[in-house]
Amino acid sequence: MTRQHLRTALLLTIVTLSTAKMEAQDFETRFLDATLRLDYIYAGTSEDQAIYLNGMKTYEGWYGKRINMNSLPLQGNGTITVTNFVLGDTIYRHSFSTLFQEWQNTEEASKEARSFENTLLIPMPKFPIQVTVELQNMHNGQKACLKHFIDPADRLIRVHDTRETLPHTYLRKAGDSRDKIDVVFVPEGYTAEEMDLFRRDCEESISSILRHKAFTDRKDRFNFIAVEAPSAHSGVSIPKNRDWKSTTLGSHFDTFYSERYLTTPNIRALYDLLDGIPCESIIILANTKEYGGGGIYNNYMLSAARGPGYKSVIVHEFGHSFAGLADEYFYDDQYETYYPEGIEPWEQNLTTLTDFGSKWQDMLPNGTTIPTPADGRDVYTKVGVYEGGGYQSKGVYRPAQDCRMKTNEAPDFCPVCTRAILRVIDFISR
Ligand SMILES: [Zn+2]
Repeated sequence: MTRQHLRTALLLTIVTLSTAKMEAQDFETRFLDATLRLDYIYAGTSEDQAIYLNGMKTYEGWYGKRINMNSLPLQGNGTITVTNFVLGDTIYRHSFSTLFQEWQNTEEASKEARSFENTLLIPMPKFPIQVTVELQNMHNGQKACLKHFIDPADRLIRVHDTRETLPHTYLRKAGDSRDKIDVVFVPEGYTAEEMDLFRRDCEESISSILRHKAFTDRKDRFNFIAVEAPSAHSGVSIPKNRDWKSTTLGSHFDTFYSERYLTTPNIRALYDLLDGIPCESIIILANTKEYGGGGIYNNYMLSAARGPGYKSVIVHEFGHSFAGLADEYFYDDQYETYYPEGIEPWEQNLTTLTDFGSKWQDMLPNGTTIPTPADGRDVYTKVGVYEGGGYQSKGVYRPAQDCRMKTNEAPDFCPVCTRAILRVIDFISR
């Protein structure tokens, strides 16, 4: 290393260190090392909707991001914005998607009204704040908005009793939970006698996730935690067989009458299990061999923990819930249009070619034809613009012929999904 190089390297180290220090100071002037849990209800039809605050709770420790506090890595279908009530500056932003918005795209929502739960965690502010929760429609317009005031000294903010924190164990610990991304495993449909089985299923899931390149490269950023929450019955509900079980989260297949779609409507019950536990991303393992799952960005993912292809399904759903990746598969006919013409999706692995420059244009090899013909060669690695994705055979394009976000057979995420995951990890952690 020359003297000039050494000086540059030293300068870079000093700049990086002081940025980190400034961010830490920023956090300490605005927030306590505590979490404020906000429970909401989203209700309405495909046309009309409203957001209501349903409860507030607090506990020690903030385990979410401590950098890039007032910006977003991805737009999501919804956002929460926290501003200083007096000064008006934005001190925290976070994006997410919801089951409610997915349901709004179904035929049922054009005829019936329903309500859905959603819980959001924010760092506990040191001063009064205004919270704004917004839900977007498919055309990137605002659909619903709730603004509300919170005084952190409000005595009706319920304080979690640490004696009620559920037993939990670190299965992998890369470092302090305040600095790392904490992925929490929650058991669904495992009885008290099946907790060993649950831990074994967690281990299998962790290995599957860490085998994918983006996560292999950043495995030092992740803690994996298992929560002990036994269910009365073993297995999960399968409505098409009239088979209903009593489980911790009341999850079931046949969500929106789609046989393989496994979700839980009981988000408050889910967060009741997690109060006091470091939690940035939630993986719910369902004790079933029945094929299926679901994943919602910055909300939760739920997957069958055994049976055919389950290891791929878990990682696929984690792609949705952790990195906001879209499904790259498609059908020939579908009632809903998820990705209308003329609107660029916010998901990083699909494009309608409306604003392709904001996607993977920079990763295309020279001379790539658009749309790129699927020639069956280098199906996992050759980046192109292949028509079909996001449930639509026309008008939506995906980056590779095959990918973890398309089939269970793909060995890994495609190069574009891999980059998108790395970007999310680097946005929320260092
Ligand atoms: Zn992909």
